[in-house]
Amino acid sequence: MTTHNNQAMGHWIDGREVPSSGNAVLETLNPLDDSLYGTVVRGTVADIDNAVESAHAAFLSYSQSSTNDREAWLCKAAELLEKQKGQFIEILHSEGGSTLKKAEFETNKAISFIRASVGMVRNLSGKTLPSDYPGRISMTWREARGVVAVITPFNVPLIKASRLCANALATGSTVVLLPSEEHPILSLKFAQLMSEAGFPAGALNVVAGNGYDIGDALTGHPLVKSVTFTGSTVVGKHIQKLCAENNKHVTLELGGKNPLVIMDDADLQEAVPGAIRGIFMHQGQACIGSSRVYVHDKIYDQFVKMYVAIAGKLGMGDLRDPDTIIGPIISERQRERIKRHIEDARNKGATVATGGNWDGNRCAPTVLLDVTADMDVFREETFGPVVSVYRFSDFDEVVAEANNTNYGLSSAIYTANIHLAMRFAKRIEAGMVHINSPSITDEAHVPFGGVGDSGFGREGTEADLDAFTDLKWVTIQA
Ligand code: NAD
Repeated sequence: MTTHNNQAMGHWIDGREVPSSGNAVLETLNPLDDSLYGTVVRGTVADIDNAVESAHAAFLSYSQSSTNDREAWLCKAAELLEKQKGQFIEILHSEGGSTLKKAEFETNKAISFIRASVGMVRNLSGKTLPSDYPGRISMTWREARGVVAVITPFNVPLIKASRLCANALATGSTVVLLPSEEHPILSLKFAQLMSEAGFPAGALNVVAGNGYDIGDALTGHPLVKSVTFTGSTVVGKHIQKLCAENNKHVTLELGGKNPLVIMDDADLQEAVPGAIRGIFMHQGQACIGSSRVYVHDKIYDQFVKMYVAIAGKLGMGDLRDPDTIIGPIISERQRERIKRHIEDARNKGATVATGGNWDGNRCAPTVLLDVTADMDVFREETFGPVVSVYRFSDFDEVVAEANNTNYGLSSAIYTANIHLAMRFAKRIEAGMVHINSPSITDEAHVPFGGVGDSGFGREGTEADLDAFTDLKWVTIQA
């Protein structure tokens, strides 16, 4: 890419890299040591207007593009991402602090999500309906909504950009993507790839900048017809209000404090590594991470011994080493919250079974025992490699405890008793429930999302058909 504004990388608008209308820049730092990774322009409200107008102008012809063309562009995008995987993995390492395991997982998921979106192209169907009026032919059509605003978080920027942009583009809608200010270069590179894949100018636009300054200009823009936001609950609720005032469709994928229950008949050879994977992937920076683990009294001591032994030895070496599990925490803001949660728990009497210490910007895997309701970590999302392990003896009691949260994203239970597992699945207040695997998992076509403070609506190939299209009722009086 070429550079503008003091060598800063520009926005991607109307099929090309463009400078900002302002002079400010955003520096993106390598989370390992906070050294400068790259510089991008810092978008202004005028840049948002420019991107939305480009997406709106493109919509007129893009929404009429043939199914063959949209399929071919999406197929090509998946093929290019497969070919350029190494470059995306490098950005995930250096801009996001991802380990090789996480970066490979994310790029593979992104390829899978783009491939799955191809199926949406021919699924934009309506139906014929009976009518109260003799002779009337009555039917529904699905029509692309128009400009979709996609707002993504720092932790899985490629998963979110690929899924949501591909799904919106599959329906014939056009997109303005506002990526996290912590990880913009990845999304600018993704826009370039989509352009190489053949998507016409204006179909996908990316504005680099800080959502706190320019986000309202995007979500409140009259030409934006649908908003899909992934991020914190506090920002999500603000966006929901703005969308309500402007009467536009919104999907919110927000935070989580996900429970994982381990019954006394669980296979610990499966449950322990599951609970490890559940929280420590991407050093705990995952909305669906299993940050609350409830273990039955009868196996509690054995579980804690095995769990702590593995957690204490998770690799914290070179990010490019496949054995490294724990990378750095992305920013000072995130690190401060994690430190506050650990210190607050320690001061109020929690036992730190392992971890609690830092190596540079990396927080060692931290297992807390004896956590009580007055501690911040009990209720708030930590978004770091910190897990609370609780003891229980009664199924009803553990279901009540697992539901004692404002969040309701994902959940999990390990047990050999399928009846109990199904009772848990029925009674847990969460959008997703996994039996004998951790709370952390996702697939392209499933309804991904949560209830309560975890969100509103679902994403995935089926859910996004509704998010990015409108149904029109059409009649012919014959
Ligand atoms: P964040 O809310 O701070 O930021 C997310 C995005 O919103 C960023 O791009 C930011 O610039 C933008 N933003 C900020 N103010 C805005 C405004 N007024 N209007 C529009 N956009 C605005 O979240 P984060 O720290 O980047 O991500 C971590 C959070 O995301 C965690 O709470 C995590 O659980 C959640 N998350 C949820 C999911 C899910 O699918 N449910 C997935 C990943 C992350």
